[in-house]
Amino acid sequence: AMISTLMSLLWLSIIVFIIVHAKPIKSQEITIPRKLASKISRNAQVLSQASTDYGHIIHQKPFGVLEPTSVSDIANLIKHSNSLPQPFTISARGQGHSVLGQAMTDNGIVVNMTQLNGVKKGSRIVVSNCDGKSTLDCYVDVGGEQMWIDVLNETLKHGVTPLSLTDYLYLSVGGTLSNAGISGQTFRFGPQVSNVLELDVITGLGEVVTCSSSKNSKLFYAVLGGLGQFGVITRARIPLGSAPRRVKWLRLIYNDFSAFSKDQEHLISFNKKDDINGANYVEGLLLLNKQHLDLSFYPPSDHPRITSLVAQNGITYVLELVKYYDTNSQQLIEEVVDDLIGELKFVPTFMFQKDVTYEEFLDRVHTDELFLRPKGLWDIPHPWLNMFIPKSRISDFNEGVFKNIILKQSISAGVSIVYPMNRNTWEDRMSTVIPDEDVFYLVAFLHAAKGLEEVKKFQAQNHEILKFCNDAGIKIKEYLAGNKTHQEWIQHFGSKWKLFEDKKTKFDPKRILSPGQGIFQ
Ligand code: FAD
Repeated sequence: AMISTLMSLLWLSIIVFIIVHAKPIKSQEITIPRKLASKISRNAQVLSQASTDYGHIIHQKPFGVLEPTSVSDIANLIKHSNSLPQPFTISARGQGHSVLGQAMTDNGIVVNMTQLNGVKKGSRIVVSNCDGKSTLDCYVDVGGEQMWIDVLNETLKHGVTPLSLTDYLYLSVGGTLSNAGISGQTFRFGPQVSNVLELDVITGLGEVVTCSSSKNSKLFYAVLGGLGQFGVITRARIPLGSAPRRVKWLRLIYNDFSAFSKDQEHLISFNKKDDINGANYVEGLLLLNKQHLDLSFYPPSDHPRITSLVAQNGITYVLELVKYYDTNSQQLIEEVVDDLIGELKFVPTFMFQKDVTYEEFLDRVHTDELFLRPKGLWDIPHPWLNMFIPKSRISDFNEGVFKNIILKQSISAGVSIVYPMNRNTWEDRMSTVIPDEDVFYLVAFLHAAKGLEEVKKFQAQNHEILKFCNDAGIKIKEYLAGNKTHQEWIQHFGSKWKLFEDKKTKFDPKRILSPGQGIFQ
């Protein structure tokens, strides 16, 4: 009798499951056809995950989350939305590492891109024409949902590597290509958006289009840095170069900003084709008095003298420099590094170095993540401010912002980054906006806040920084911008706005995609 009761219960739950899943989903706003409805989750936990991001500041609840098992699921969803008198919004979500709700939608559908990886793990990263070393047409085809760490690990098996990576690699290919994808390698090889040979994109009309600089180029350049506005990237072809085995990783400390920035500019000024001895990576960090100093890079015996240098100066600047090498050039590398830093004007004896594998260097931020996570310091609010500053005004920025706002207010927590890059490695036809000078700096205040009160303080500080730049006539461009009014977006894009708007009309006329950016809604 017990077995038959159990069997009846089992049948009953199967019938209930079929009824629930086969019925078209219907709410006030959204009706989804049967075939797609079964792939849309409305599970509370899934919805809650899609309602937040790495910023933990903005929260928007979607109607549902599409768990696609193929590229056509996404295309069908977009087509369906287009067919309705009142289309619903759709937002691709890579790793959700935005900080201002950019991958969210209020009552629309979030597409969980990572689900594409689950279907056939590994087969969405395919290396071609490399034969153990890089050749001119050595590249990798990767799904837009793939994380850069997986792309790197796969290419390294072939002795090759993407040339331009971000500081943190647990970001999706589609996510960074929708912004720019920058790091200390950008000065040499350009941002990640300058390192793409071809894309497959599902446009806002649901059409799957292959594009490149020579084929459907309008869509290609629109999507690169396009903040998800014109289509969903489902494949990117990325050029590869030979992978080094090891790196010399140096940090040089300066107490004078002018010497620091001149040296950074000197290091990025060479022509990549001619100079095999040039730096492979150049970044910079602030060390601020009265704030928690992260000295984990430096030998413990040097901590007291570094702390005292920072205390004396209030603010010091750390130039971070990397030179790649192979194990067979061990001796030569010492000479190359000596030549590189020979003329630099850091505080004498304040030069520190590590010798690590290429992978260890590239995965450095994940090492921080593994340290911070168990302490509950990773999944907390991140009121970040990222901006590009023209070189001609960087010393005004140092005085007005680093010294007069950041240092004085003493509320900075997290990392502050500053490094220059060359405009000639950026393609002007791309959607990304940058300052109109040959050299410009990234300045990133990567704050981590312990609660809402701290979020407000950092937001007020960010606002003050932007106001200072505006009042001083420093023509900055925000990077990873968000939470702007329509008018502020128009200002952000400046001379590129008209084109951006025209492309939206062409590729996503019903304004369905990436509403979380707040540009057209
Ligand atoms: P998501 O947050 O999921 O999405 C971002 C935007 O892209 C959304 O509008 C979304 O709709 C859209 N999108 C996502 N996938 C696709 C797709 N396949 N096709 C079209 N649109 C899509 N950036 C740098 O440049 N350099 C760095 O060194 C760097 N370091 C970082 C370190 C950390 C710890 C964090 C949290 C972020 C960092 N970023 C850096 C920022 C990061 O590049 C962006 O936030 C990026 O968007 C994150 O990728 P994601 O996959 O999480 O994107």
